[in-house]
Amino acid sequence: MDSKQWIDVTTEKNHYSLDHFVIPTHYEKDVSSILIPHGVIMDRVNKIARLIVEDTTGPLVVCCILKGGHQYFADLVNAVKKLTTKDGKTVPLSLEFIRVKSYKNDQSEGVTMSITDEECAEFEGKNLLIVEDIIDTGATMVQLLKKLDNFSPKSVKVTSLLVKKTPKSNGYTPDYVGFSIPDEFVVGYALDYNEYFRDLDHICVISDHGKKAYAV
Ligand code: 5GP
Repeated sequence: MDSKQWIDVTTEKNHYSLDHFVIPTHYEKDVSSILIPHGVIMDRVNKIARLIVEDTTGPLVVCCILKGGHQYFADLVNAVKKLTTKDGKTVPLSLEFIRVKSYKNDQSEGVTMSITDEECAEFEGKNLLIVEDIIDTGATMVQLLKKLDNFSPKSVKVTSLLVKKTPKSNGYTPDYVGFSIPDEFVVGYALDYNEYFRDLDHICVISDHGKKAYAV
């Protein structure tokens, strides 16, 4: 995917005030700004679904990276189901779920993955689409792709709703990206901070108050 096609929300002017949209009262003090309102996320998801369908020739195994990727995965799969390819065909989908855990508070603590070799063996000869919420350093995705490669899938493509602009990046870039975001810890739209904020629709920047309130 051409990086010109990403939506860049990395600058200060991209942050909306909390007064401009509805925030659940239980999180009012815990986020400092709204980075991507829910409606904009949904419109972007529809466009990415269109790009994926245009590039797809056969059945797709869509792999959800849990837990943060579940909302993007659900909305993306719904959008793909409604679309047809250039020659008027729909894309047959099967769904897989891979649990990946990599963060405690807002710092990396390494990566653990729930997928077994037996489950991975099912991917042989299939076209995989990995659906992730956010790429930060890129370490999680590089490890996952390395593991999947051992099981000879026909193709592997990756979509991430968000890519963080950070000096810690290992340079990995997904095939389909929703938004390029600043180097800040974001929550909402299923992205959590110690399991909180998954029930917030907009993608927001966590505040110091929020970090303290939900630290473990
Ligand atoms: P990476 O391996 O690319 O550094 O990190 C990927 C994972 O880190 C993501 O799947 C996500 O779980 C977590 N992560 C990185 N940045 C953020 C962030 O700003 N907010 C949240 N909620 N999770 C993040």
